[in-house]
Amino acid sequence: MNIFVLNCGSSSAKFAVIDADNGREHVSGIAQRLGSAEASLDWKVDGTKHTRALPGAGHDAGLRAAVDVLDELGLTGGLAGVGHRVVHGGSRFLGSVIITPAVVRQVEDCIPLGPLHNPPNLIGIAIAQELFPALQQVAVFDTAFHQTMPARAYTYPVPHSWLEDDEVRRYGFHGTSHRFVAAEAVRLLELDPHDHALVTAHLGNGSSATAVLNGRSVDTTMGLTPLEGLMMGTRSGSVDPAIIGHIARVRGMDPLAVLDALNKQSGLLGVSGLSNDLRTLEEAAEDGHERARLAIDILVYTLAKSIAGLVVPLGRLDALVFTGGIGENSSLVRGRVIEQLGFLGLTLDADANARCIRGVGGRVTRSTRPQAVVVNTNEELLIARDTAALVAPTLS
Ligand code: AMP
Repeated sequence: MNIFVLNCGSSSAKFAVIDADNGREHVSGIAQRLGSAEASLDWKVDGTKHTRALPGAGHDAGLRAAVDVLDELGLTGGLAGVGHRVVHGGSRFLGSVIITPAVVRQVEDCIPLGPLHNPPNLIGIAIAQELFPALQQVAVFDTAFHQTMPARAYTYPVPHSWLEDDEVRRYGFHGTSHRFVAAEAVRLLELDPHDHALVTAHLGNGSSATAVLNGRSVDTTMGLTPLEGLMMGTRSGSVDPAIIGHIARVRGMDPLAVLDALNKQSGLLGVSGLSNDLRTLEEAAEDGHERARLAIDILVYTLAKSIAGLVVPLGRLDALVFTGGIGENSSLVRGRVIEQLGFLGLTLDADANARCIRGVGGRVTRSTRPQAVVVNTNEELLIARDTAALVAPTLS
């Protein structure tokens, strides 16, 4: 069953047509730099890349151009539904849903919680409804997987009225990825689907780790926003919130500008002063760049601390799962984190760890419990599967 998968961001829209039954990706692409003179559509079919300039195109023109490509490939006629990545579902959505006017209103209600992401997600939904009026549309939320967290994990120790009146609590993100790789790890390692304890580490430019007990998220590192938790490419992760008031005062800055710097000028970029890209930092550290080394040291140390912390709600650890650009490719970060966590019983298989790069996954430890495993994430496939499962009963 072919599904059109759409992930609409503020200046880009990623799309794919995926057969939800066998995972085959017929086409994937991105309309990017939307709203600028350099806007373009880039797509890939059977490993061959194509590009088309779309000067001045906004979301509407970008998505129409993507649908033209689908037409040229003969894919539009066979579509069974459209699956949308929606970032923030607040406490309203516990799973994926067919999009109705009421769902759109609820996603709009979540805009204060996801002010950067939900508006472009809603634009994508509106355009896709116009382009494919006969198809059911499904929303798959980044936050939904974490709605199983207990109150003690999601409640901040702040005035309770902030939760009651303003929905200030921990939501967590990357839920689609955590859910996908957790299920894959259970399958790969032949764990009991009803009795397993995992920590999934999605490590990319944005990073989060989740404690997964028997298929359910019981705690995660990201919070009200994706700023909390692990050190990331440009985000600080968790820091003393008093830093905001302090820097605002001593530098005469607007607190919102300080917050912006914690999101965009911190993390690997902030510490190294060089780049948010781990590859660049690994090379620089190799060449003796002290702050690149420090950035990697902090990344590894704080990641290991967070993973160990996530074993608390699990009570034991069967497997540590690495995914995301860093998790799938950096044998350095994986190897050092596993060594740091040796006290949990993890023992590194250095050869297997070195082999897991660019799409190669598998076990990277010699220990049988706990194990560590690299799983390539595929959020688009999970969106396609959820969409297919929801639209199938409506198709007959
Ligand atoms: P993502 O946001 O999931 O695309 O991940 C991006 C991050 O993955 C960047 O920091 C990249 O430097 C990192 N990454 C990708 N490939 C490698 C690699 N071969 N070695 C180290 N880091 C990598």
